Amino acid sequence: MKIKGSTNIVGLIGHPVEHSFSPPMHNAAFDELGMDYAYVAFDVNPTDLQTAIEGAKSLNIKGFNVTIPHKIEVMKFLNEIDEVAGLIGAVNTIDFKNLKGYNTDGIGAVRAIEEVTSIKNKNVVVAGAGGASRAISFYLAKYGAESMAILNRNVEKAQGLAADVSQSGLIGEVKADSISEIRNYLKDADILVDTTPIGMHPNISDEPIAFAEDMDEDLVVFDAVYNPNETVLLKEAIKAGANPVYGIKMLLYQGAESFKIWTGRDAPVDVMEKALKDTLNLE
Ligand code: NAP
Repeated sequence: MKIKGSTNIVGLIGHPVEHSFSPPMHNAAFDELGMDYAYVAFDVNPTDLQTAIEGAKSLNIKGFNVTIPHKIEVMKFLNEIDEVAGLIGAVNTIDFKNLKGYNTDGIGAVRAIEEVTSIKNKNVVVAGAGGASRAISFYLAKYGAESMAILNRNVEKAQGLAADVSQSGLIGEVKADSISEIRNYLKDADILVDTTPIGMHPNISDEPIAFAEDMDEDLVVFDAVYNPNETVLLKEAIKAGANPVYGIKMLLYQGAESFKIWTGRDAPVDVMEKALKDTLNLE
Protein backbone atom coordinates (compact mmCIF):
# COMPACT_ATOMS: atom_id res chain seq x y z
CA MET A 1 0.00 0.00 0.00
CA LYS A 2 1.31 3.47 -0.91
CA ILE A 3 0.03 6.50 0.98
CA LYS A 4 -0.54 9.35 -1.49
CA GLY A 5 -1.98 12.84 -1.47
CA SER A 6 -5.37 11.36 -2.31
CA THR A 7 -5.42 8.60 0.33
CA ASN A 8 -8.61 8.34 2.41
CA ILE A 9 -8.05 7.83 6.12
CA VAL A 10 -10.14 5.64 8.40
CA GLY A 11 -9.09 4.45 11.82
CA LEU A 12 -9.65 3.46 15.39
CA ILE A 13 -9.98 5.62 18.49
CA GLY A 14 -9.53 4.10 21.92
CA HIS A 15 -7.26 4.20 24.94
CA PRO A 16 -5.06 2.15 24.66
CA VAL A 17 -5.03 1.01 21.01
CA GLU A 18 -1.58 -0.35 20.27
CA HIS A 19 -2.61 -4.02 20.49
CA SER A 20 -5.57 -3.64 18.12
CA PHE A 21 -6.07 -6.22 15.34
CA SER A 22 -8.12 -3.82 13.22
CA PRO A 23 -5.29 -2.02 11.33
CA PRO A 24 -3.83 -5.20 9.75
CA MET A 25 -7.32 -6.54 9.02
CA HIS A 26 -8.62 -3.41 7.26
CA ASN A 27 -5.37 -2.55 5.47
CA ALA A 28 -5.27 -6.10 4.04
CA ALA A 29 -8.80 -5.52 2.72
CA PHE A 30 -7.88 -2.18 1.11
CA ASP A 31 -4.80 -3.77 -0.47
CA GLU A 32 -6.82 -6.68 -1.83
CA LEU A 33 -9.35 -4.37 -3.51
CA GLY A 34 -6.70 -1.82 -4.59
CA MET A 35 -8.53 0.93 -2.70
CA ASP A 36 -6.84 4.24 -1.91
CA TYR A 37 -7.48 3.98 1.84
CA ALA A 38 -5.34 3.55 4.96
CA TYR A 39 -6.45 2.51 8.47
CA VAL A 40 -4.58 3.88 11.48
CA ALA A 41 -5.00 3.67 15.27
CA PHE A 42 -5.28 6.85 17.39
CA ASP A 43 -4.76 6.71 21.15
CA VAL A 44 -7.25 9.31 22.42
CA ASN A 45 -7.32 10.34 26.06
CA PRO A 46 -10.92 10.48 27.40
CA THR A 47 -10.56 14.22 28.09
CA ASP A 48 -9.77 14.80 24.39
CA LEU A 49 -12.66 12.83 22.90
CA GLN A 50 -14.78 15.76 21.71
CA THR A 51 -11.85 17.57 20.09
CA ALA A 52 -10.75 14.28 18.49
CA ILE A 53 -14.14 13.94 16.76
CA GLU A 54 -14.21 17.61 15.71
CA GLY A 55 -10.63 17.39 14.49
CA ALA A 56 -11.31 14.21 12.53
CA LYS A 57 -14.24 15.95 10.83
CA SER A 58 -12.03 18.91 9.91
CA LEU A 59 -9.30 16.57 8.63
CA ASN A 60 -11.82 14.84 6.33
CA ILE A 61 -11.33 11.46 7.97
CA LYS A 62 -13.87 9.05 6.48
CA GLY A 63 -14.64 6.74 9.38
CA PHE A 64 -13.70 5.53 12.83
CA ASN A 65 -14.00 2.39 14.85
CA VAL A 66 -14.46 3.20 18.51
CA THR A 67 -13.22 1.03 21.34
CA ILE A 68 -12.89 1.12 25.13
CA PRO A 69 -13.34 3.55 26.89
CA HIS A 70 -15.12 5.75 24.30
CA LYS A 71 -18.03 3.61 23.01
CA ILE A 72 -20.72 5.27 25.16
CA GLU A 73 -19.32 8.78 25.65
CA VAL A 74 -18.73 9.37 21.93
CA MET A 75 -22.47 9.22 21.20
CA LYS A 76 -22.80 12.78 22.59
CA PHE A 77 -20.72 14.15 19.75
CA LEU A 78 -22.55 12.51 16.83
CA ASN A 79 -25.45 13.87 14.74
CA GLU A 80 -27.29 10.59 14.36
CA ILE A 81 -27.32 7.14 15.98
CA ASP A 82 -28.47 3.98 14.24
CA GLU A 83 -31.65 2.63 15.86
CA VAL A 84 -30.20 -0.61 17.32
CA ALA A 85 -26.99 1.14 18.40
CA GLY A 86 -29.28 3.57 20.29
CA LEU A 87 -31.00 0.64 22.04
CA ILE A 88 -27.63 -0.90 22.89
CA GLY A 89 -26.39 2.48 24.11
CA ALA A 90 -22.93 2.18 22.57
CA VAL A 91 -21.34 2.67 19.15
CA ASN A 92 -18.22 1.10 17.70
CA THR A 93 -18.36 2.64 14.22
CA ILE A 94 -18.69 6.24 13.01
CA ASP A 95 -19.42 7.25 9.44
CA PHE A 96 -18.23 10.84 8.93
CA LYS A 97 -20.43 11.32 5.82
CA ASN A 98 -23.32 12.08 8.16
CA LEU A 99 -21.57 11.82 11.56
CA LYS A 100 -23.68 8.74 12.30
CA GLY A 101 -22.85 6.08 14.89
CA TYR A 102 -23.45 2.33 14.49
CA ASN A 103 -22.78 -0.76 16.56
CA THR A 104 -21.42 -3.58 14.40
CA ASP A 105 -20.28 -5.83 17.33
CA GLY A 106 -23.68 -7.48 17.62
CA ILE A 107 -24.07 -7.84 13.83
CA GLY A 108 -20.61 -9.41 13.84
CA ALA A 109 -21.73 -12.13 16.25
CA VAL A 110 -25.00 -12.66 14.39
CA ARG A 111 -23.23 -13.06 11.03
CA ALA A 112 -20.75 -15.49 12.66
CA ILE A 113 -23.61 -17.62 14.02
CA GLU A 114 -25.55 -17.40 10.76
CA GLU A 115 -22.64 -19.05 8.94
CA VAL A 116 -23.84 -22.17 10.78
CA THR A 117 -27.56 -21.64 11.45
CA SER A 118 -30.30 -19.08 10.99
CA ILE A 119 -31.25 -17.25 14.21
CA LYS A 120 -34.89 -16.87 13.19
CA ASN A 121 -37.29 -18.78 15.48
CA LYS A 122 -34.46 -20.22 17.58
CA ASN A 123 -34.23 -20.53 21.37
CA VAL A 124 -31.13 -18.69 22.50
CA VAL A 125 -29.25 -18.73 25.80
CA VAL A 126 -26.85 -15.84 26.41
CA ALA A 127 -24.25 -16.14 29.19
CA GLY A 128 -22.95 -12.84 30.57
CA ALA A 129 -24.61 -9.42 30.77
CA GLY A 130 -21.76 -6.99 30.07
CA GLY A 131 -20.97 -4.86 27.02
CA ALA A 132 -20.60 -7.71 24.51
CA SER A 133 -23.76 -9.40 25.76
CA ARG A 134 -25.72 -6.15 25.40
CA ALA A 135 -24.58 -5.62 21.81
CA ILE A 136 -25.25 -9.24 20.83
CA SER A 137 -28.59 -9.69 22.66
CA PHE A 138 -30.33 -6.82 20.85
CA TYR A 139 -29.15 -8.17 17.49
CA LEU A 140 -30.25 -11.74 18.30
CA ALA A 141 -33.67 -10.24 19.01
CA LYS A 142 -33.60 -8.19 15.81
CA TYR A 143 -32.70 -11.27 13.76
CA GLY A 144 -35.80 -13.09 14.95
CA ALA A 145 -34.81 -15.26 17.92
CA GLU A 146 -37.97 -16.92 19.22
CA SER A 147 -36.97 -16.84 22.88
CA MET A 148 -34.00 -15.64 24.90
CA ALA A 149 -32.64 -16.24 28.39
CA ILE A 150 -29.81 -14.10 29.75
CA LEU A 151 -27.80 -15.82 32.49
CA ASN A 152 -25.25 -14.00 34.59
CA ARG A 153 -23.23 -14.33 37.78
CA ASN A 154 -24.77 -11.04 38.95
CA VAL A 155 -28.46 -11.82 38.39
CA GLU A 156 -29.60 -8.20 38.77
CA LYS A 157 -27.50 -7.23 35.79
CA ALA A 158 -29.07 -10.02 33.75
CA GLN A 159 -32.52 -8.82 34.82
CA GLY A 160 -31.71 -5.26 33.77
CA LEU A 161 -30.52 -6.30 30.31
CA ALA A 162 -33.40 -8.75 29.84
CA ALA A 163 -35.88 -5.95 30.66
CA ASP A 164 -34.20 -3.59 28.17
CA VAL A 165 -34.25 -6.18 25.38
CA SER A 166 -37.90 -7.09 26.12
CA GLN A 167 -38.88 -3.39 26.09
CA SER A 168 -37.28 -2.90 22.67
CA GLY A 169 -40.25 -4.72 21.16
CA LEU A 170 -37.90 -6.80 18.99
CA ILE A 171 -38.75 -9.99 20.92
CA GLY A 172 -41.21 -11.14 23.63
CA GLU A 173 -40.36 -11.46 27.31
CA VAL A 174 -36.66 -12.23 27.86
CA LYS A 175 -35.84 -14.43 30.87
CA ALA A 176 -33.04 -13.71 33.33
CA ASP A 177 -31.38 -16.09 35.76
CA SER A 178 -28.15 -17.08 37.46
CA ILE A 179 -25.48 -18.61 35.26
CA SER A 180 -25.36 -21.53 37.69
CA GLU A 181 -28.76 -22.61 36.27
CA ILE A 182 -27.40 -23.03 32.75
CA ARG A 183 -28.00 -26.81 32.55
CA ASN A 184 -31.76 -26.29 32.85
CA TYR A 185 -31.77 -23.74 30.04
CA LEU A 186 -29.64 -25.80 27.66
CA LYS A 187 -32.26 -28.56 27.52
CA ASP A 188 -34.43 -26.48 25.15
CA ALA A 189 -31.74 -24.30 23.60
CA ASP A 190 -30.76 -24.15 19.92
CA ILE A 191 -27.96 -21.61 20.33
CA LEU A 192 -25.65 -20.88 23.28
CA VAL A 193 -23.78 -17.55 23.23
CA ASP A 194 -21.01 -17.14 25.80
CA THR A 195 -19.99 -13.52 26.34
CA THR A 196 -18.07 -14.10 29.60
CA PRO A 197 -14.26 -13.89 29.52
CA ILE A 198 -14.03 -17.44 30.95
CA GLY A 199 -11.24 -19.37 29.20
CA MET A 200 -9.56 -16.25 27.83
CA HIS A 201 -5.75 -16.26 27.68
CA PRO A 202 -3.94 -16.76 30.06
CA ASN A 203 -6.80 -18.54 31.94
CA ILE A 204 -7.25 -21.11 29.21
CA SER A 205 -7.99 -23.96 31.65
CA ASP A 206 -10.86 -22.22 33.46
CA GLU A 207 -13.91 -24.35 34.10
CA PRO A 208 -16.31 -23.75 31.17
CA ILE A 209 -19.86 -22.48 31.73
CA ALA A 210 -21.22 -25.79 30.37
CA PHE A 211 -19.96 -29.30 29.62
CA ALA A 212 -20.39 -31.73 26.73
CA GLU A 213 -22.93 -33.79 28.68
CA ASP A 214 -25.26 -30.74 28.79
CA MET A 215 -25.14 -30.24 25.01
CA ASP A 216 -26.86 -32.14 22.22
CA GLU A 217 -25.56 -32.47 18.67
CA ASP A 218 -27.89 -29.81 17.26
CA LEU A 219 -26.69 -27.09 19.63
CA VAL A 220 -24.72 -24.18 18.13
CA VAL A 221 -22.15 -22.82 20.60
CA PHE A 222 -20.63 -19.38 20.05
CA ASP A 223 -17.82 -18.13 22.30
CA ALA A 224 -16.95 -14.41 22.09
CA VAL A 225 -13.46 -15.14 23.41
CA TYR A 226 -11.03 -15.29 20.45
CA ASN A 227 -7.74 -15.97 22.25
CA PRO A 228 -7.32 -18.93 22.32
CA ASN A 229 -9.22 -19.78 19.15
CA GLU A 230 -10.60 -22.99 20.62
CA THR A 231 -11.72 -22.17 24.15
CA VAL A 232 -12.57 -24.68 26.90
CA LEU A 233 -16.26 -24.20 26.05
CA LEU A 234 -15.75 -24.85 22.33
CA LYS A 235 -13.71 -27.96 23.19
CA GLU A 236 -16.73 -29.23 25.14
CA ALA A 237 -19.02 -28.39 22.21
CA ILE A 238 -16.81 -30.37 19.83
CA LYS A 239 -16.71 -33.28 22.29
CA ALA A 240 -20.53 -33.29 22.28
CA GLY A 241 -20.65 -33.28 18.46
CA ALA A 242 -22.28 -29.84 18.61
CA ASN A 243 -21.46 -26.93 16.26
CA PRO A 244 -18.74 -24.51 17.42
CA VAL A 245 -18.63 -20.85 16.28
CA TYR A 246 -15.32 -19.13 16.93
CA GLY A 247 -14.95 -15.67 18.51
CA ILE A 248 -12.58 -14.55 15.77
CA LYS A 249 -15.55 -14.59 13.38
CA MET A 250 -17.27 -11.87 15.43
CA LEU A 251 -14.13 -9.75 15.23
CA LEU A 252 -14.02 -10.39 11.49
CA TYR A 253 -17.64 -9.59 10.71
CA GLN A 254 -17.83 -6.48 12.90
CA GLY A 255 -14.91 -5.23 10.82
CA ALA A 256 -16.55 -6.29 7.55
CA GLU A 257 -19.73 -4.36 8.50
CA SER A 258 -17.74 -1.24 9.38
CA PHE A 259 -15.86 -1.51 6.07
CA LYS A 260 -19.16 -1.60 4.19
CA ILE A 261 -20.51 1.41 6.12
CA TRP A 262 -17.44 3.53 5.26
CA THR A 263 -16.80 2.44 1.68
CA GLY A 264 -20.14 1.11 0.42
CA ARG A 265 -18.31 -2.02 -0.76
CA ASP A 266 -18.54 -5.63 0.40
CA ALA A 267 -15.49 -6.50 2.46
CA PRO A 268 -13.15 -9.27 1.26
CA VAL A 269 -13.72 -11.40 4.36
CA ASP A 270 -11.33 -14.23 3.42
CA VAL A 271 -8.39 -11.83 3.17
CA MET A 272 -9.41 -10.09 6.39
CA GLU A 273 -9.70 -13.41 8.22
CA LYS A 274 -6.23 -14.44 7.10
CA ALA A 275 -4.79 -11.09 8.28
CA LEU A 276 -6.52 -11.53 11.64
CA LYS A 277 -5.23 -15.07 12.08
CA ASP A 278 -1.70 -14.02 11.11
CA THR A 279 -1.83 -11.19 13.66
CA LEU A 280 -3.20 -13.50 16.35
CA ASN A 281 -0.75 -16.25 15.37
CA LEU A 282 -3.59 -18.67 14.69
CA GLU A 283 -3.42 -21.21 11.88
P1 NAP B 1 -17.74 -6.99 30.50
O1 NAP B 1 -18.59 -5.84 30.10
O2 NAP B 1 -16.74 -6.81 31.58
O3 NAP B 1 -18.72 -8.20 30.93
C1 NAP B 1 -18.21 -9.43 31.37
C2 NAP B 1 -19.37 -10.38 31.69
O4 NAP B 1 -18.79 -11.66 32.01
C3 NAP B 1 -20.20 -9.96 32.90
O5 NAP B 1 -21.52 -10.35 32.67
C4 NAP B 1 -19.57 -10.77 34.04
O6 NAP B 1 -20.48 -11.13 35.06
C5 NAP B 1 -19.20 -12.05 33.32
N1 NAP B 1 -18.06 -12.71 33.99
C6 NAP B 1 -16.80 -12.24 34.12
N2 NAP B 1 -16.03 -13.14 34.76
C7 NAP B 1 -16.84 -14.19 35.06
C8 NAP B 1 -16.64 -15.42 35.74
N3 NAP B 1 -15.44 -15.76 36.22
N4 NAP B 1 -17.69 -16.25 35.89
C9 NAP B 1 -18.91 -15.93 35.40
N5 NAP B 1 -19.16 -14.77 34.75
C10 NAP B 1 -18.14 -13.91 34.58
O7 NAP B 1 -16.92 -7.55 29.27
P2 NAP B 1 -17.34 -7.51 27.71
O8 NAP B 1 -16.86 -6.27 27.10
O9 NAP B 1 -18.78 -7.85 27.62
O10 NAP B 1 -16.43 -8.69 27.12
C11 NAP B 1 -16.67 -10.03 27.48
C12 NAP B 1 -15.83 -10.99 26.63
O11 NAP B 1 -16.19 -10.88 25.27
C13 NAP B 1 -14.32 -10.73 26.71
O12 NAP B 1 -13.67 -11.97 26.78
C14 NAP B 1 -14.01 -10.08 25.38
O13 NAP B 1 -12.71 -10.37 24.95
C15 NAP B 1 -15.02 -10.74 24.49
N6 NAP B 1 -15.35 -9.92 23.31
C16 NAP B 1 -15.11 -10.46 22.08
C17 NAP B 1 -15.39 -9.74 20.96
C18 NAP B 1 -15.14 -10.34 19.60
O14 NAP B 1 -15.15 -9.61 18.62
N7 NAP B 1 -14.95 -11.64 19.50
C19 NAP B 1 -15.92 -8.44 21.07
C20 NAP B 1 -16.17 -7.91 22.34
C21 NAP B 1 -15.88 -8.67 23.47
P3 NAP B 1 -20.80 -10.16 36.31
O15 NAP B 1 -21.77 -9.14 35.80
O16 NAP B 1 -21.40 -11.08 37.32
O17 NAP B 1 -19.49 -9.57 36.74
